[in-house]
Amino acid sequence: MPIEDRYSRQVLFPGVGAEGQRRLLSSRVAIVGCGATGSALAALLARAGVGHLTILDRDYVEPSNLQRQSLFDEADAAESLPKAIAARRKIATFNSELEVRAEVADLRPENIEELLDGSQLVLDATDNFETRYLVNDYCVKHARPWIYAAAVASYGVTLNILPGETACLSCIFPAAPQGTVETCDTSGILNSVVNQVASIEATECIKLLVGARDRVRRTLLSFDAWSNEHSEIAAARPRPDCPTCGARQFPYLAGEGRPHITLCGRDSVQIHERRRPIDFGEMNSRLAPHGVVKHNQFVLKFWHEPYEMTLFPDGRAIIKGTTDVAVARSLYARYVGS
Ligand SMILES: [Zn+2]
Repeated sequence: MPIEDRYSRQVLFPGVGAEGQRRLLSSRVAIVGCGATGSALAALLARAGVGHLTILDRDYVEPSNLQRQSLFDEADAAESLPKAIAARRKIATFNSELEVRAEVADLRPENIEELLDGSQLVLDATDNFETRYLVNDYCVKHARPWIYAAAVASYGVTLNILPGETACLSCIFPAAPQGTVETCDTSGILNSVVNQVASIEATECIKLLVGARDRVRRTLLSFDAWSNEHSEIAAARPRPDCPTCGARQFPYLAGEGRPHITLCGRDSVQIHERRRPIDFGEMNSRLAPHGVVKHNQFVLKFWHEPYEMTLFPDGRAIIKGTTDVAVARSLYARYVGS
C-alpha cells in the first residue's frame, strides 16, 4: 500500500507532514509491557506507522484481560497465547508493513541491554516500579528518552524523561512507593483511563520521533477521570542531588539484591529461571501423570489442584493459586527441576 494512502490523514497534519511520516517509518521504539497500556500504545503506534516496534511482555492472555487489553481476543485467551506474540499477530492484520519484534520475557538487569539495544525510545507500559526504575537506570545511562505512564482505577499519570535535559523518574520519586500500592488487581481499572494515558504517551512519543522536541510536555501530568481532578508538576530540570541522573549510580541495572522469585499480582508467583531450556514434548509426558497438561509452541500449562503452572520455553514459570514463594519454589523444584 503506498504510504500516501495509508498515512494520508496523518501527513496532512502539519506537525507530522511527509518528512515526519518518513521519520516515523524508520523509527525504532520499544514498548515494555503489553497489557492494557501496551496494547493501546502498540495499536496507536503501529497504525501511525512507527516502522520498528519491539514488544516485550512476560505474561499470557487470560479472559480477565479482555475488558481493557484491546489487542487481544477470546481465541488468544483460550490458547493462553503470550501477549507479545498475540500482539504481533494482531498488528500484522492491520499493518503488515512494519517490523514487529515480540519478546516473551521478563525485563531484568541480565537481559535489558540485549532487549532494548537499538531502540531509540522506550515506552513504559509495565505495572510495577521495579521495572520502571530499571528502565530509568538504563535510559539515563544510555541518554535515551523514555516515557513513564501508569493507570489504576480512574487515575492516570505520565512523565516524559529526556536524560540530561529534564527530570528523571528518580528525580521525581526518589524511592518506590512503600507499603500497599494500589494495582489494577486490587483497585480495578476503567478501560477508558488506560486508553487516555496511552494516547497521551503515544502523542508525546510521536512528537519525539518526528523531531518536535520543543512541543514535548515537561511536567508530571496526573488526572482522575472520575473526579475530574488534574495536576501538573514541573519536571523541566533534573533534581541537582538525584543519585541516578546526577551521580550516575545505577543500582537497578546492577541488579543488586534482586530476588529470583517474585510476586506478580493476581494470586501468583513468578520464577525467573532463564537458563533451563524446556522441551515441551518431554515435559508434557513427564507431567501428564500428575495433572492436566496442555501446550502449544509458546507456553505449557499444567494444572495440579489448586495450582496452575505456566512454563515458558526458557524455563521461566508463573505459578497461580498461591502468593507463598516457598510453595511456588517447591512446586517448581518438584515438577520442573531444582
Ligand atoms: Zn534524576
